[in-house]
Amino acid sequence: MVDHGEREHASWAASATARNVHCPGALALALDANTPDKETIHSARGTAAHQISEKCLRSGADADSFIGKIEKTKSHEIEIDEELANSAQEYIDYCRGCLSGYEGEFGGDAIFWIEEKFSLAELGPPFDAGGTGDFVVYYPVCKVLEVVDLKNGMGVVDVKDNPQLRTYGLGAVLAHPELDVETVTVTIAQPRAPHKDGRIRSETFHVADLIAWTADLLKSMHKSKAAMDAYETAKGNSVLMDEWVAEWLQPGKCTFCPVEGTCPALRRDALSVASVWFDDMNQPRIGNMPNEMSPEKIAETLDMLPMLEDWVKAVRAYAHTQAEMGTTIPGWQLSEKIGNRRWIDADVALVELMEQGFSEDQVYDRKPISPAKADKLLGAKRKALIEPFVERPVTGTNLVSEAKTSRPPAPSTAAKYFEPNSETGE
Ligand code: SF4
Repeated sequence: MVDHGEREHASWAASATARNVHCPGALALALDANTPDKETIHSARGTAAHQISEKCLRSGADADSFIGKIEKTKSHEIEIDEELANSAQEYIDYCRGCLSGYEGEFGGDAIFWIEEKFSLAELGPPFDAGGTGDFVVYYPVCKVLEVVDLKNGMGVVDVKDNPQLRTYGLGAVLAHPELDVETVTVTIAQPRAPHKDGRIRSETFHVADLIAWTADLLKSMHKSKAAMDAYETAKGNSVLMDEWVAEWLQPGKCTFCPVEGTCPALRRDALSVASVWFDDMNQPRIGNMPNEMSPEKIAETLDMLPMLEDWVKAVRAYAHTQAEMGTTIPGWQLSEKIGNRRWIDADVALVELMEQGFSEDQVYDRKPISPAKADKLLGAKRKALIEPFVERPVTGTNLVSEAKTSRPPAPSTAAKYFEPNSETGE
């Protein structure tokens, strides 16, 4: 079995569909740059969650049996902790539920595939295109093909009209011409991100809608191909390249773009956003000092920040990769990150402490198990027993865009201060 993290990506990967549709030149830049795929700790944790989920679905084990074990990904060794195991388990339970039919309307003898690779070659795309469906299941009774996609991250992903999920749906249909499919359901399992439609949410559409959408997808692919051809002509000519950038690059869906750190269009837009706040001498413009900002001006500024922050992070990551590859960056150097102190061999160290007169209770911590582990002990039928003993404390507030949250607004500290006293009514 090839681990999730080691699987090769197609030129047009399903996971990049939204970006490539929005920004036709992204693929040309990405293929030309051939940037080594730098795996962040977040994507490595996502990969580890996929890997243990796959092992559990194939073996019948539960995710908590991996707690404390190491999963190797492309560039990291991830120790499976409770949070990762819980995230994987919610997805595993959903997939198992699909098979046992207890999720509802679909019923019995479903056929399934785990981490199934697919190709869109049959559609004649101008380059190789495909992806991997995390969990694909066919319900013969109602002729539904479902693709379940595990997302371990916390950035909320919507299921409706999601191009990545539609590509998975399309790929699954093409991979199984033997099936009589009438409707396709795409499901996101995002256990760590609360959403008004639930942490696991689906969209269902008729195969005819998928075919209509496929025509649009192919148009976008051909647009990307035209951008690639124009790129080959423009390369080496700065005037043509400026025109190419203006015509084919469209910032807006740049997160995870492999050329985010070097993209000229994103750099242009990020610097033009920054120039709103800084003058030619790199000094903050007095008129934009925070204490002179109106709420409308603050909102306008906040709306622009994510793009600038993403660009800064991408440039840092790119520069780091270059330095790791041996490029000398004037005035900068690699410096070792030093981790927290830890025992070389905990057993030997604790024996030594006990020989110094400390008791076992002093050198070993006894920790209560978490609610999630208690759920596991009790099983699905009895886990409600612990509800009276469990709370989800509010530890503060975050300021988030209304467009990116499904939670109701929290009261401000000022509003809480002026709340009427429940006893006196004042
Ligand atoms: S960084 Fe953004 S604008 Fe640049 S190529 Fe990637 S998706 Fe397009």
